[in-house]
Amino acid sequence: MDHNYADTVLDLHDIALLLNYERASTEPRFRHAKLREVASPGDFKTVRLLTPAWTEAGAIPRVGFIFDKPLKPTRAEKDEPDLPTNMLPASPSADLRKLTPKELETYFWQARNHDGCYRTVTLLQHFIDLFPEFTRVRVRTVENNTPRSYTTLANERLIVEMKLANPRSLSMSCVLPVNTTYITGGEPTMDHAVLGFSAPGSDIDTILDLSSLQFGDVGRGHKGRSLFVLEPVSQYLDRLNKYAERHNYYQAKISIRINDALDNEWLKEVALRTKLRWHNRVTDPWCGHCGAPSRGEPLKRCSKCQNAYYCNGDHQHAAWTFHKHFCNEPKAKNRLSLKTPSS
Ligand SMILES: [Zn+2]
Ligand SMILES: [Zn+2]
Repeated sequence: MDHNYADTVLDLHDIALLLNYERASTEPRFRHAKLREVASPGDFKTVRLLTPAWTEAGAIPRVGFIFDKPLKPTRAEKDEPDLPTNMLPASPSADLRKLTPKELETYFWQARNHDGCYRTVTLLQHFIDLFPEFTRVRVRTVENNTPRSYTTLANERLIVEMKLANPRSLSMSCVLPVNTTYITGGEPTMDHAVLGFSAPGSDIDTILDLSSLQFGDVGRGHKGRSLFVLEPVSQYLDRLNKYAERHNYYQAKISIRINDALDNEWLKEVALRTKLRWHNRVTDPWCGHCGAPSRGEPLKRCSKCQNAYYCNGDHQHAAWTFHKHFCNEPKAKNRLSLKTPSS
């Protein structure tokens, strides 16, 4: 969070953290669902699935998830956000207990990002629609270990819709007992939509892909750690080659606005909650890796800049490769030194 910009400039990286957290923690398709089983690469043990996309996808890397979603959440569950850390059932199987926190985090996001690209593009549109017309946004990226930052109009973002041919992996989530199945990479071609940003006067130079984790760990952002992608186009093109055998980025459809996506009313609520959290950013900070607010215990503070917060050491570690490029001296101290004449 950069308090220098106060209310006038949105920080795209921070907004992305908040939008993703508010979206994933309340996703209707997986609300209150607990992970029952992960199948990779073999078949499920607890259910027999006959979905052809799954049974016939022997050749490419595949991972499948079975979730149990309560038909009616208990009162205690109702307001509880869904998180990677509470995705396991009360008595997990031995296989589930072996999963690392990072694996749980990947699977959590992989499931919530099925068909996620149009939802996330629409969500950002709803969010920006809540601000005045000439609201500016600060875009921060790191390329070849060099940080870059520019400010542009939020309304000048573009929607980039492309085709990916022969996805390199398949993932499937099956939600019981309703038995709804979501698949990523099950067709020879898939649509993928992301957001494009550009410094004033130039072509699209930066991509924001909020549903990148649908492709698993290759969709992790900066240095393979973060939970969304915000990076220069050149890096994003390399990434597309990991998603699929071919892409048509250079023939992508570019547009200014998009029609409402599935779950539109819920996405509007997510946008409103995100706006409130952005507004309260000084009093209620969030984790610089996962976007979580403090829940009971205060978040840990970056000891160098005092201006970034984290749930725990793991999340601080995950965010550090990006944050270190923007971890400046404490702002309060700078101001103090301006007032105090050096003797
Ligand atoms: Zn966190
Ligand atoms: Zn810092």
